[in-house]
Amino acid sequence: MAQVVISQHPLVRHKLTLLRRATTEPKKFRELVRELSQFLLYEATLDLPLQERIVDTPLAPYHGHRIAERVGLVPILRAGLGMVDPILDLIPTAHVWHLGLYRDHATLKPVTYYNKLPPEVDVDLCLVLDPMLATGGSAVAAVTVLKEWGASRIKFLGLIAAPEGVQALHQAHPDVPIHLAALDDCLNDHGYIVPGLGDAGDRLFGTG
Ligand code: URA
Repeated sequence: MAQVVISQHPLVRHKLTLLRRATTEPKKFRELVRELSQFLLYEATLDLPLQERIVDTPLAPYHGHRIAERVGLVPILRAGLGMVDPILDLIPTAHVWHLGLYRDHATLKPVTYYNKLPPEVDVDLCLVLDPMLATGGSAVAAVTVLKEWGASRIKFLGLIAAPEGVQALHQAHPDVPIHLAALDDCLNDHGYIVPGLGDAGDRLFGTG
């Protein structure tokens, strides 16, 4: 059974508080999403395997390391896009695939409307990115698409989750670790996380 990891880092708590504040404007909001995504990535990649790599320093050979796994990033549109660049800054070789999902009003099931996965699996670790894990519908669907494609090692990275979302993702995909900055109280009747931060896509992109 995979874990749910909620960051306890003091800087994460500090920055997440600023992120939640209703008066935080989009520029600052993007900056905070950027910083928080990098902290979460740091914690989510503590188990990345290494290979030996020898380099020459100006003085002598040095027996060092390189990351042994190929990493793929799967942002869930649209708010997941805000987490891509800060992660690419730290893992510039990562591949980025875009997955667009919406919830069908009749069936209430997520429908994939955009899928740019290549035909063959060409990474070892997939990181599914969505700042808000609300009902969990999109995250469950994204992980299902990735597993059907053949991905074996998958992790979810989000900033804030509702207990309902964590439970849904964990129940559907118990092998997928969930890395979060915070676990909030509940979902309201409109599907927003409470206390949350509102609509992450609107706040990132200045819409709404
Ligand atoms: N998506 C958001 O952007 N915010 C929420 O609170 C829930 C889903």
